[in-house]
Amino acid sequence: MTETLDIKISRTTASRLEQTDFDNLPFGKTFSDHMFVADYANGEWTNLSVIPYGEIGLSPAISALHYGQAFFEGLKAYKHADGKITVFRPDKNAIRFNKSAERLCMPTLPEEIFLQSIATLVDIDRNWVPSQPNHALYIRPFMFATDPYLGVTPSATYKYMVLVGPVGPYFSKPLRVKIETHYTRAAEGGMGYAKAAGNYGSSMLPARKATQEGFDQLIWTDAKEHKFIEEMGAANAMFLLDGKLITAEAKDTILDGVTRDTVIALAKEWGIPVEERKVAVAEIIEGAKNGKLTDAFGAGTAATIAPVASISFEGEEYFLSDPKTREFSNKVFDTLDAIKYGLAPDTHGWNYLVSE
Ligand SMILES: *Cc1c(COP(=O)(O)O)cnc(C)c1O
Repeated sequence: MTETLDIKISRTTASRLEQTDFDNLPFGKTFSDHMFVADYANGEWTNLSVIPYGEIGLSPAISALHYGQAFFEGLKAYKHADGKITVFRPDKNAIRFNKSAERLCMPTLPEEIFLQSIATLVDIDRNWVPSQPNHALYIRPFMFATDPYLGVTPSATYKYMVLVGPVGPYFSKPLRVKIETHYTRAAEGGMGYAKAAGNYGSSMLPARKATQEGFDQLIWTDAKEHKFIEEMGAANAMFLLDGKLITAEAKDTILDGVTRDTVIALAKEWGIPVEERKVAVAEIIEGAKNGKLTDAFGAGTAATIAPVASISFEGEEYFLSDPKTREFSNKVFDTLDAIKYGLAPDTHGWNYLVSE
């Protein structure tokens, strides 16, 4: 890490680290001692600073609140046995951050600000990176519009911030998922490929209905016909069908996941054919019936590799093989884990060192 940016640092005088229960870390509820903030005004990013975590004052008229000019990223820092802390493929998130910004008519952020904001904050709060297995420091960069103006027009000012907090595993058991055939997450020409705040607001009602029906998660299908599988909740849906890894191609309705990309890279190295294409609901259900669907999982930074226990479609629930016995997803999970925690050589250059 090279310190080239001028980042002002004010440290907290009252750390909450000692009071934090690292054995009880529900996702997204625990925040470290500090956060990163920068302001965009007059066409440039200024006031780059790390300050104590806490509330910020904002006008109630900011257009982020009214019109949803807001988006985020999600990545993780891992502690290795030798104390080193690395972040997994943050360069990919930096690129996606700017794709989201452009879609929402918001300013892009230079990649070195993205990377150094994360590196500086994680280094300052390095004692917050958990050392238990399957735990990590979740990193949440985000940007939102701050003009106090109710006109429906792009804001001229923005804030970029980063929050971090320790997390354990996101899902505790294999998922019973439902194929959603009414609601839609993303449509062609829309903003499904962006990590836009509004995409997640609109997913909450369908997700709650699925939970009320007893499912853990839903599988989104295409907006036009509901015939093709797109994603699984806020993770990419991946399947092993007839010995091939298949997943929806990363077009405008699909969030181009870093985990998805990583799984594809590993599969190719292992000689497994990979198909990024339209994935028909019909072929997945057929595969579940005839046993050719040997693996199914969600892939994402928060969810990691989340195995699917059963898939429900039109009132019928199809159980897949016992997740513990699945060769591919277990191998992917173990390989990814070993690389992220420094237990296997990082031959791809995926780990970005932030703290020695
Ligand atoms: C964040 C996200 C993913 C996973 O992306 P990763 O980069 O692997 O974390 C997949 N789908 C949606 C809708 C997401 O928001």
